[in-house]
Parts: sequence; structure tokens; C-alpha cells
Amino acid sequence: AQNRRTPLIAGNWKMNLDHLQAVATVQKLHWTLKDAGHEGDSVEVAVFPPFTDIRSVQTLIDADKIPFALGAQDLSAHDSGAYTGEVSGAFLSKLNVGYVIIGHSERREYHREDDAVVNAKVKAALKHGLVPVICVGETAEDLEKFGASAVPAGQLEKALEGVPASADIVVAYEPVWAIGSGQAATPAQAQDVCAALRGVLAKVLDEDAAARTRVLYGGSVKSGNIASFMREPDVDGALVGGASLVVDEFAAIVRFQ
Ligand code: PGA
Repeated sequence: AQNRRTPLIAGNWKMNLDHLQAVATVQKLHWTLKDAGHEGDSVEVAVFPPFTDIRSVQTLIDADKIPFALGAQDLSAHDSGAYTGEVSGAFLSKLNVGYVIIGHSERREYHREDDAVVNAKVKAALKHGLVPVICVGETAEDLEKFGASAVPAGQLEKALEGVPASADIVVAYEPVWAIGSGQAATPAQAQDVCAALRGVLAKVLDEDAAARTRVLYGGSVKSGNIASFMREPDVDGALVGGASLVVDEFAAIVRFQ
């Protein structure tokens, strides 16, 4: 992408890797990238482990000065209180968590998170100094009925309601039919929707927000297709699921250039 936005390669581990495996994985990823001469300033790397891993990974990153950002896969819309099982953004930011995935299609589907919940969580993340990685995307059925952009654009508009234009956010376009299916969108499809989402940023926030905010593509990204996505002007990185669990594969994605 020919712009000044630093590419972001984000590994969404989902419910994989316990805290011991997490430490080994992050350590190995760091060594692999270091051996390959990856400096960490041309491409930002972020890992999103399960909650139970975060403290261990944070300690490792801190002790070994590993240049990865740390993210969580979800957060509570509330700050504290009687919400059994939930995790506050306040606790995450105390652990140097920088990013939080919000509105992943798996949470929308299995936990019935609707646009209002996503919007509340985006505001909670910002309140606690976390950068929300707002996930949007259409199902195969939506694609047939409405085309590719309408549903994700609508989801993003609702996620951003009441969010100030100065907010630091990341958007991830993840077509539901491409997630974990091995059937990635084409680079042209990803470009079309990412450009439309940038248009939403311009409309709901402002032109500056549209120009500076990173819009990622996600859905069956691997080392063999990442470069083709990154060539698109409105694709600023990737949210990687399955391929983020395999160190050599994820390292190859980070080193797409
Ligand atoms: P995938 O998942 O890379 O395994 O398709 C992407 C995601 O759900 O974030």
C-alpha cells in the first residue's frame, strides 16, 4: 500500500495455546523474525492471545524487549462490578495491552453481540486507552443479497456512533465466508470493501481519520497470499487466525515484502 500508514500484521490466536505454549510461541516468533533481520519498525506485529495468557506474554515482552504489540480478543463494555466472567479494559491496559478485537464474527454469531454491544465495547476500549480493532464483514448470504460492502459498511457506521474523530482505531474487514475456510477474498474484493470502509471513516469521523486509520483484511490470509493483499492501496495489513498459530508461517506473513 503506497501510503504512510505502518502496516499491521495481527495474529488472532482465538481459543488456542495455553500460557506455556504462548510464551514459547512468542519467544520463537521473536527469534525467527530477528534471525530474518526483521526490525519491527517497517511492519507492526501484534499478538492476540487468550486472556489467561496475557500476563505471561506481557512479562516476556517486557523482560526481553520484544517489539510486538499485545492485544486481547474481547473486553467488557463495563468498567467493573457484578459481571461474572467479564474482563475490564482497565485491567487490560494495566497489563500494557494496546489493542482489543471487538465484534469478531465469532462473537457476533456465538455470543449474539449486536451492533449496539460492539459500539459500547468500542467506547469502553477507547475510555481505557486501548485501540479497538473493529471487525466487520458479510456472510455468504449477505454477499449474495446485498453485495460485499453494504453489510460491513453498515456495521462500521454503527460501531463508530458517538466516537470522536480523533480516536485511535483499527478496522478489520473479515468476510465471514473467508474466515477459516481456506477461501480468501480476492485482493480486488478486499480492496473494494476496504476502500468503502475508508469512505465510512471519512463520513462518520473525518478525512484525517480516514487517511490515518489502518484497515486490515482478514480471512484465510497465509504467506502465499499476503503480498497480493498488501499491494492494494487501501489494505494496511492483516488479521490472521489459523496461520498465526504456526510460527514460521506467521513470520513469513510479517515478512511479506
Ligand atoms: P483465519 O481467521 O485467518 O483462520 O481465516 C481470521 C480471523 O478470524 O480473524
